[in-house]
Amino acid sequence: MHCDDDDLAVIALGEPASPEVESHLQQCARCRSNLDQWSAVVASARTVSADDHLIAPPPSVWDAIRDEVAPAATVTSLDEARRSRRPVGWLLGAAAGIGIVLGSVATFGVVTSSTEPAPAIMAQGGLDPLDGATVTGTAALEDADGEVHLHVTVPGLPAVEDGYYEVWMATADASTMVAVGTLGPDGDSILTLPAGMDVADFPLVDVSVEHFDGDPGHSAQSVVRGLLEA
Ligand SMILES: [Zn+2]
Repeated sequence: MHCDDDDLAVIALGEPASPEVESHLQQCARCRSNLDQWSAVVASARTVSADDHLIAPPPSVWDAIRDEVAPAATVTSLDEARRSRRPVGWLLGAAAGIGIVLGSVATFGVVTSSTEPAPAIMAQGGLDPLDGATVTGTAALEDADGEVHLHVTVPGLPAVEDGYYEVWMATADASTMVAVGTLGPDGDSILTLPAGMDVADFPLVDVSVEHFDGDPGHSAQSVVRGLLEA
């Protein structure tokens, strides 16, 4: 008689095994392997924090997992377990007890992590190459807790000899340009915009090559440019 999945899951959560289960586990590779799988589920679920965004997997994910492991183990989506009230239901209570967000168990392996909540995007647009440049990028205006950020990403920019890349926001006709910060060497910068700046007046985002020449104006050497659209 092999170990019950319920027993193995409880052990994976840290409960001591009963003497019978303990001695069976010592002789049965199949049950030890089952226990390992439960432990992996628990370990994965314990790494989930409140900041993780949960994504419900499409049914095909569970089908794929089943195909992958069958017939070595029975994989049960907790969504299904909740619906059918099978004995795995106890895990719902146990999981809540150790602070697991229930959905995360059902979606283990399908969670994405971030350290802070995603900012709200107010406007965004693509940045197209200018003046013979071959790179493209993206720009987004983000509302991060009331502070407005311009998030500029231009991957693959060549290093500038004796210079750097400057990010500008400009009126639609590019007649007035405001320097809002530099683009880091990895081509990704989140720039805090000056308080009081009416971003609606400056929908054009431009990245230029600037040199350490003491001239605060635009060099007229743009590499990418694009319009932000709400
Ligand atoms: Zn066994």
